[in-house]
Amino acid sequence: MRKKIVAGNWKMNKTYEEAQALLSEVVNMVKDEVTGDVEVVLCPPSIYLTTSRQYITPGGKVSIGAQNCHEKASGAYTGEISAPMLQSIGVEYVILGHSERRQYFEETNAQLAEKVNSVLENGLTPIFCCGESRDLRENGDYIGFVKDQITDSLFHLSDESFAKVVIAYEPIWAIGTGLTASSAQAQDMHFELRQHIAGQYGDEIAQNISILYGGSANDKNAAELFAQPDVDGGLIGGASLKSRDFLTVIKARQ
Ligand code: 13P
Repeated sequence: MRKKIVAGNWKMNKTYEEAQALLSEVVNMVKDEVTGDVEVVLCPPSIYLTTSRQYITPGGKVSIGAQNCHEKASGAYTGEISAPMLQSIGVEYVILGHSERRQYFEETNAQLAEKVNSVLENGLTPIFCCGESRDLRENGDYIGFVKDQITDSLFHLSDESFAKVVIAYEPIWAIGTGLTASSAQAQDMHFELRQHIAGQYGDEIAQNISILYGGSANDKNAAELFAQPDVDGGLIGGASLKSRDFLTVIKARQ
């Protein structure tokens, strides 16, 4: 049985006070209202990670994730944070390769392979993002493009390491646009990616990898997306910034 996960990517949002309020609301609502076996991952801006950790109970339903980290463990990389640092404050997940990082910070598949290594070496779980642009979706081999992102950044891993990775399919044309992939479009891609993984790592590992969908997923459309057999959860942006909306998404997955 693969893990059901709903992760909230807060991106660059919320002041400290607002972040504390949202953390406390989400953690309390999950405690009171979520009975199923869904895992909730909150990914606030890195400046709030230490505080965030204090809101959760280790081993409980809610975990904390970072939105990025550097590929090196330490050194002269002004402004960056590393996987050992995240591990040392109790962070458990790290989003890697978000399309905004690929686009604005020019992260490449090769660099992401190094980030994945560092995250896994430090006992953290990468949430590896992949997804195609609108232009590719309309005019190109978009399935091949997304498969290549996975091949180039993940297929060097051993079976044991790969089995720890969480994948998030986030079509760029659906992020922050209100234009969600239809549940059929999400299912088709998730199915293709699982087949691709099975080709490299075999059926058992492929069947146990959680593949999340992200891109304008919200309280209204989550239930239909999560009803697809290969959609194991969501990576939620805008809708994770409002506790009630986010809780509705979580409950749609439990
Ligand atoms: P939205 O849910 O705001 O479209 O963002 C999705 C996303 O990028 C999550 O990482």
